[in-house]
Amino acid sequence: MRRLFTKNFDFDPDKIVMCSNCSTCRWTCTSYEEWGSEAMFAGGRLRMLRAYVEKNLPIDEHFVEAIYSCSVCEQCVERCPIKVPYGEIVEDLRKRLVEIGKGPYGKLGAMGDRVFHEHNPYGGEAKERANWITPDLKISDDSNIGYFVGCTASYRRPEIGVATVRMLNHFGIEPQILGTDEYCCCSPLIRTGQIVMPIFKKQEDGSKKKVGTLDVKSIINHNIEEFKSRGVDQIIYSCSGCFRTTTLDWPKFYREKGGILPFSTQHLSQFLAVKLKKGEMKWKNGYNERVTYHDPCHLGRHVGVFEEPREVIKSIPGIDLVEMDRNRYESKCCGAGGGLKGGFGENATNIASRRIEQALEVGATTLISSCVFCKLNFLDAVKRDGHDIKIVNIEDLFSDLMELG
Ligand code: SF4
Ligand code: SF4
Repeated sequence: MRRLFTKNFDFDPDKIVMCSNCSTCRWTCTSYEEWGSEAMFAGGRLRMLRAYVEKNLPIDEHFVEAIYSCSVCEQCVERCPIKVPYGEIVEDLRKRLVEIGKGPYGKLGAMGDRVFHEHNPYGGEAKERANWITPDLKISDDSNIGYFVGCTASYRRPEIGVATVRMLNHFGIEPQILGTDEYCCCSPLIRTGQIVMPIFKKQEDGSKKKVGTLDVKSIINHNIEEFKSRGVDQIIYSCSGCFRTTTLDWPKFYREKGGILPFSTQHLSQFLAVKLKKGEMKWKNGYNERVTYHDPCHLGRHVGVFEEPREVIKSIPGIDLVEMDRNRYESKCCGAGGGLKGGFGENATNIASRRIEQALEVGATTLISSCVFCKLNFLDAVKRDGHDIKIVNIEDLFSDLMELG
């Protein structure tokens, strides 16, 4: 069993055996619902793992595909009666597949390549990272509050960055932004096992030459040191993936002071909830629609932020917040995370479409989320499948209702 895990991974083999004989979480599993395959849920994957190890089978593309067809949403962990740390197990398996040259799956390796060269997984030029900033935004170079923008807002959904800074400016905060010195938070790399990976360049004769090594630890430490050198002791996030990764993953990679980050992290929904509680938030306009809230896995299940976004939404005059059948700890995944969007694009959109159908079932005309990656995936589903629903994030709503645009 050990040979398919990295050498430092400390797992309990008994739990892997128990999990491989269990199907308790299968009905809630994002990937099982999408693929309908016995290999595509936690217990099924570990059953497959055991078969490959016990029969000493060579690692083939079917195994790799199964290991990567998981959004690491951790709905299974929530359901699990024996508390199998499935998220850690699947991420370690992916790390090992990369180590032995069998992973990552399909085109996911291109993400690592792009982060190595341009510091983002989309491949936009590093020097264009801050191009989303509009002239009206107030940004400073001496605030103790920073805003980590993230790659998706920087290169794909610039309106999120603009709305977030306008929101902070509304409360008198002129945040520090790293601009072109901001590198990927490394969420897509950590989730897909691309922690340390050789980077090759194709030569004219078709051969490949190694040009460097992708090293997540050095990218993360770069971001930490940048904020630290600028005196930032509090960072705000609009992306739940960046927030989760900084809060839970960065400390593991931070080499100084036993991994204690030199700043606190706060998702913008938490920031707004505090303002609300202190009576510092008065809505300028109402929103007379039935809405529902989608818990991003990285914000909800992974970090435990469920109520703050709801408190903020409920405070909007005229709004009718209804819950979908699956909410909070039981929330369905949007399908974008864990490398699904990059590795299995159509499947990721199918999963988003099913989540939107749950919103439509409760009569919502607006689906609100608080993760830029969820928003991106939902918008792709609306574009492809023509759902009659508005997709917004909390910061979009805030900016519109406060007339900050
Ligand atoms: S993760 Fe837990 S609930 Fe799911 S199959 Fe494994 S043991 Fe069963
Ligand atoms: S993390 Fe999500 S997609 Fe992966 S096995 Fe668990 S429930 Fe299924």
